[in-house]
Amino acid sequence: MDLGLTGKIAVVTGANRGLGLEACRQTATMGYRAVLTARGKTKGERAVAGLRRDGLDAAFCQLDVTDAASVRRLARFVARQGGRLDALVNNAGILIDGEEGPLGLKVAALSRTFETNVAGPLRVAQALAPLMDRGGRIVNVSSSAGQFKNLSAHWPSYGVSKAALNALTKTLAREHARDGIRVNAVCPGPTDTPLFQSYKDAGDYGRRVFESISRSFPLRRIGQPEDLPGAVAVLISDDAAVITGQILSVSGGLTMQD
Ligand code: NAP
Repeated sequence: MDLGLTGKIAVVTGANRGLGLEACRQTATMGYRAVLTARGKTKGERAVAGLRRDGLDAAFCQLDVTDAASVRRLARFVARQGGRLDALVNNAGILIDGEEGPLGLKVAALSRTFETNVAGPLRVAQALAPLMDRGGRIVNVSSSAGQFKNLSAHWPSYGVSKAALNALTKTLAREHARDGIRVNAVCPGPTDTPLFQSYKDAGDYGRRVFESISRSFPLRRIGQPEDLPGAVAVLISDDAAVITGQILSVSGGLTMQD
């Protein structure tokens, strides 16, 4: 099916593994030239080679979303790809272990998490939105942990950062509406990726949290990386032409909101 996206350019941050790689594969499958970014160069180049082997159009650009100079380099890279950008998926994110419950909230962990999960997407959006024409689309990968207070209690800094990212999504949606650029967020529930696995393996508390979460999905299964791309695909397609400022749960029913 021709989605009218061939030759258009999409950037996906944090895409050398996990959910970002699946989202990147989706953008390329839709016809976008996918710019796959991450700090890890070897893994990133390997991921791009894998997409190309499957006949998809992809390129790698190294990126650290916490580093303004690195983000400016990405903007220059995108400009060289054809001068303009059509879609941005702000996926890069971190979860810091070691805060056991809400009373374990630590300022240092909060600052570091915000730097990647909130300032990162803002920095990238501010650098790349000027390359977008009307019809540009931005999707922020947030989390059910930013919607659902019981989950954010397990990962306080992470939950607070993702709640802030949801608020930032609405702020950017309003700001960019006049430019015809749409901004939305998707909120996966706990998903079986290296990020979540590392938490599960981090000792008794992590294991207990993992087990209680696994039992709590109304759809009775933990998320898989392949569960996310469909939601991202809708939001970066022309079908979502009047959808902006929305926070979409992709969490097996874990979070249900009006
Ligand atoms: P992951 O496997 O840990 O992958 C994270 C990606 O982000 C990697 O590609 C990593 O590559 C990149 N990254 C980390 N810090 C970066 C930085 N400063 N600059 C640029 N890239 C950076 O995580 P995931 O589980 O796929 O999660 C992806 C997104 O989904 C995150 O925003 C996460 O919060 C969200 N999410 C995950 C879950 C879950 O259960 N897995 C649930 C809800 C939401 P490098 O280290 O090489 O840079």
